[in-house]
Amino acid sequence: MSKFWSPAVRELTPYVPGEQPRERLIKLNTNENPYPPAPGVEAALRDFPADHLRRYPDPQSNALREALAEELGVTAEQVFVGNGSDEVLALAFQAFFRQARPLEMPSISYSFYPVYCRLYGIERRTHPLDAQWRVDLDAFGQDVGGVIFANPNAPTGHGHGREAIAGLLERVTDSVVLVDEAYVDFGGESAVPLVERFPNLLVTGTFSKSRSLAGLRLGYAVGSRELVEGLERIKDSFNSYPVDSLASALGIASLADREHFEASREAVITTRERTRDRLETLGFQVLPSQTNFVLVSHPDFDAAQLFVGLRERGVLVRHFNTEVLRDHLRISIGTDDEMDSLIEALESLCR
Ligand code: PMP
Repeated sequence: MSKFWSPAVRELTPYVPGEQPRERLIKLNTNENPYPPAPGVEAALRDFPADHLRRYPDPQSNALREALAEELGVTAEQVFVGNGSDEVLALAFQAFFRQARPLEMPSISYSFYPVYCRLYGIERRTHPLDAQWRVDLDAFGQDVGGVIFANPNAPTGHGHGREAIAGLLERVTDSVVLVDEAYVDFGGESAVPLVERFPNLLVTGTFSKSRSLAGLRLGYAVGSRELVEGLERIKDSFNSYPVDSLASALGIASLADREHFEASREAVITTRERTRDRLETLGFQVLPSQTNFVLVSHPDFDAAQLFVGLRERGVLVRHFNTEVLRDHLRISIGTDDEMDSLIEALESLCR
């Protein structure tokens, strides 16, 4: 604790992301994609003229926003880009959620949301998940300064369909509803088509998961012009360049290769379902998932001990040491070979 820290910083517990180990482990702890980015990304990286780095990037990121707009079926004016969706979320919290009324979120969701609330002095109201561990949308929307949830949710994996989200938006009309779609490409249904109907809907997305570009830090938001302008106001006061020129070029190259995108996300989905069956055979309870991870628990084995045992066998998964999640492990979906090693390690631990 330092006397130089402002009060908000003194009370802050920063988000601690999953470990990036230095030793060679099978890494199933941060929901990265096990497959490489599209070949065009590598080509664009090789061909990127270093001399371009002399210049500042386009302050509007027009080329990237246009490519994203085409992919998402909206106009470039409805797209905002930033350094990973974490940054886009931070800007959205500042632009929309510093209100007199509390921000509503599920009790279990992306653990960055409470961190941003503390950082920006935003009061929050949480709603428990329903009996199947799904976000209980019916509970939301009472006198709120905003609503945020991940859809599909993390680390639980369930996603609501578009119509359920439209139902929420029929009720919440005077504050922003932010739907975080970091994992939507692995079997969820995107709410992006609803942005035409609901000017208070903001959808965020990322290149980190289904596009295998977590190291690049590229994320975006889609919404009405009104909301995008709100984000631009905050952004311009902070760092008027949305993303760097290399990230922009590589993002565009990724968007250009639909075939690779489809193949990689389908491979992840197939491996996920295969892994689920094998985990269930070992006696694990596996929550249904529309993401690139599964949340599991075992009635006979302690999750913290399984985490340690797996690590000793070279497999890194995620254990959240919180009251509600202590009995669970979140396992990212890797390649088939990686999942074979996971199952082998669990077989030796669960006998
Ligand atoms: N939202 C959710 C639900 C996430 O799990 C993550 C990844 N940890 C993010 C947003 C942020 O992803 P990124 O900053 O890499 O775009």
